[in-house]
Amino acid sequence: MSIKINKEKCIGCKRCLSVCPGSLIKLDEDGKAYMKYPKDCWGCCSCIKECKECAISFYLGADIGGRGSHLTVETEGDIVHWNIEESNGILHSIDVNRKNSNKY
Ligand code: SF4
Ligand code: SF4
Repeated sequence: MSIKINKEKCIGCKRCLSVCPGSLIKLDEDGKAYMKYPKDCWGCCSCIKECKECAISFYLGADIGGRGSHLTVETEGDIVHWNIEESNGILHSIDVNRKNSNKY
C-alpha cells in the first residue's frame, strides 16, 4: 500500500508528518512533504485524513479491487467526504457524518 503526495497542493504544514505512526513522511528542501519510506506504509489513512489541502492520495490495492483508483479525504465541518477516483476518471464519494461514527 502506498500514498502519493501532490507537491503542487502541499503547503508544508507538517500535519501529515506528525500523525504518521511510522514517521514515513518528511519535508524536502522546498518545504514540501514527500514519502521517504513508501514500502513501509501500511495504509492507515491517518495522513490522508489530516491533510486539509487534499494533497495526499491513497492508492487502493488490487486486493480490494482498486485497479489503479485512488482515494482522497475532504472534511467539511462534521462531514467527511471519502472521494474515490477510478483510473478511467469516474468519481465516487462516500459521505460520513462524524457525529454518527459511534452511534451503533
Ligand atoms: S498535511 Fe498536506 S499540506 Fe500539510 S505537509 Fe502534509 S501533504 Fe503537505
Ligand atoms: S497511510 Fe498511515 S502509514 Fe502510510 S504514510 Fe500515511 S500515516 Fe503513514
